[in-house]
Amino acid sequence: MSFRPVTTATINGRRWRIGYGFPGKTKGKVDDGSSDEGLKKIVVLTARCKRSRCLEEVIAHEILHAMAPNLSEDFCTEFGETFDRVLRKMRPADEV
Ligand SMILES: [Zn+2]
Repeated sequence: MSFRPVTTATINGRRWRIGYGFPGKTKGKVDDGSSDEGLKKIVVLTARCKRSRCLEEVIAHEILHAMAPNLSEDFCTEFGETFDRVLRKMRPADEV
């Protein structure tokens, strides 16, 4: 699968690559993002996240998975959605 690295981040003391590509599928549906503990890689779906709307949510969700792999999918989803919603409210209007 193609992966276009954009940046790196230190998570739990290890260097992770973060970028765009194809994260994979779950139950036949294309995922918005993925985090791979073995490869130390976070992939954000290129097509969907060209719209900046979901980027913060997906990044927050996947970093949380990377930091704490035992957390549930629901927990990471709720965190990503809350983080994104609050960020949008807090941002000055001219940055939206
Ligand atoms: Zn997830």
